[in-house]
Amino acid sequence: MSARLRLKDIFGGRTADEKGADVQSRRITLNGSSVDYRLVRARRRSIGMQVDLSGLTVRAPRWVSIREIDENLSKRGAWILRSIDEWRARRRDVMPREWKTGAPILYRGRELSLALHAAPKREIAPDLLNLTVLHPTPHDERRVAAFVARWLREEAERHVFPHVAAYAARVTPAAPTVKLTSARSEWGSCDRQGVIRLNWRLIQLPPDLALYVVAHEVAHLIELNHSARFWSLVEFLFPGSSKARDTLDEWTALLEA
Ligand SMILES: [Zn+2]
Repeated sequence: MSARLRLKDIFGGRTADEKGADVQSRRITLNGSSVDYRLVRARRRSIGMQVDLSGLTVRAPRWVSIREIDENLSKRGAWILRSIDEWRARRRDVMPREWKTGAPILYRGRELSLALHAAPKREIAPDLLNLTVLHPTPHDERRVAAFVARWLREEAERHVFPHVAAYAARVTPAAPTVKLTSARSEWGSCDRQGVIRLNWRLIQLPPDLALYVVAHEVAHLIELNHSARFWSLVEFLFPGSSKARDTLDEWTALLEA
């Protein structure tokens, strides 16, 4: 067993809500666009809609007809399409689709523009606006991409790893082992052996959110669960943790990029 900060932890309430509920995949046309959605029949009084990186989820009481649900979706069609577009846009801006000057790349919560220059020695320097990359072959997208990806991993180790020991020192005498991962489905995890794994993409989050993830995983060294005791330990390490948890869900699209 291990404790992982999965997407479903972040989208609070979903798992409890759907325990024992029946889930259907459906499709509807909204303003001429075909939209797939998950319909969850749940114990509730009204129809609820949520758009996130997995798309549109609709929750409805069992007694509400499909026709009534689709009428409700049509009424909110503009909002649904706009929200889906927003999630798609976020997903795109994380890493460049084309490794060319001007392409957007996310670094520590800021969208920077790639600035590629030819130089004999490879080097990367972020500032407030640009991620300047010096490279012998700046037009070779594959090499530039590999160079930047390696640098982002090193940055994650440099900026995020030291916080693990700092948080851990407040709750346990044992220094945990930290490893970097590129798992698609989680920001971090902690196993029974006390090994904490952190996603390199934490370097793309605003620094305080990356710290929240570190505090969350460190708390699992003591409580390998998501009990009330666990959450109060997280709050002890990272005051204001529930707000950070809410904000993190807006950034979770990163993992899918
Ligand atoms: Zn957790």
